[in-house]
Amino acid sequence: MELGVKMIISTEECGYCGACVSVCPHNILELSEMEIIAHEGCEECAFCMVVCPLGAIKRGEK
Ligand code: SF4
Ligand code: SF4
Repeated sequence: MELGVKMIISTEECGYCGACVSVCPHNILELSEMEIIAHEGCEECAFCMVVCPLGAIKRGEK
């Protein structure tokens, strides 16, 4: 799932802990029924990538 232009979340690697949801300064992430929902407005600050304990969020090469 693409968050911003460069941020990508792997739904296969995600453990649905909700850490990224809590840390996003723009509140675009939502944890719902074992699914991460990304709303528009990602600024690619990478806070979510840094906080993810499973390394499920990465910067793409685009
Ligand atoms: S990169 Fe920043 S703005 Fe985008 S989803 Fe992650 S924490 Fe939120
Ligand atoms: S911090 Fe990582 S493992 Fe936790 S919900 Fe977010 S993407 Fe999934």
